[in-house]
Amino acid sequence: MNVKTPTPLSPPQLTERRPTREAAEAAVRTLLRWAGDDPDREGLVDTPARVVRSYSQFFCGYEIDPDELLARTFEETDGYDEMVLLRDIRLESYCEHHMVPIIGRAHVAYLPHKRVVGISKLARVVDAYAKRLQIQEKLTAQIANTINEVLQPKGVAVVIEAAHQCMTTRGIHKPGVSMVTSRMLGAFRDDPTTRREFLAMISMGGTAARVADEA
Ligand SMILES: [Zn+2]
Repeated sequence: MNVKTPTPLSPPQLTERRPTREAAEAAVRTLLRWAGDDPDREGLVDTPARVVRSYSQFFCGYEIDPDELLARTFEETDGYDEMVLLRDIRLESYCEHHMVPIIGRAHVAYLPHKRVVGISKLARVVDAYAKRLQIQEKLTAQIANTINEVLQPKGVAVVIEAAHQCMTTRGIHKPGVSMVTSRMLGAFRDDPTTRREFLAMISMGGTAARVADEA
């Protein structure tokens, strides 16, 4: 097999092995028939095309290079060295076991070391990893590790609270349950005061109740 070296924006799953749009639409027709319906009836005729278009939004993260998002930083901070926290970032991801939504919120903090990044970039890093097939544990770690490696701050903290539709709408059917994961690096891991400050700041938002409401 001829395997080219993938560029950062074209991971292998999007190039060599990517099926055509027509093949993807045919697969959706198969699933519609598997569900017990007729893909040729009026209401479903355009559904395969719509589903495939939706997939390119749901999974747009594969085309984003998260490192690149953090490449531009600012060093004129007048010595600001306290925590930077982006709280309650809307999270939409997809369970890699069932391909159904994981909906919740992410909180991302870092302790700058000489430089800061535009705050919208933190939310974009969350999206870059969320808009893929995921498990919440890996998603949490990927966001924290990327910020840590690219920005090299004194510490990074990521907490995600989310409801998994594979648990709320199928299987054991437990609506209202949210899963909480966290990854603490550097000062957030080593210094209990910093960690406590972060946890106090995110709990001010009262997010757990809202996660349950929205999912
Ligand atoms: Zn699942």
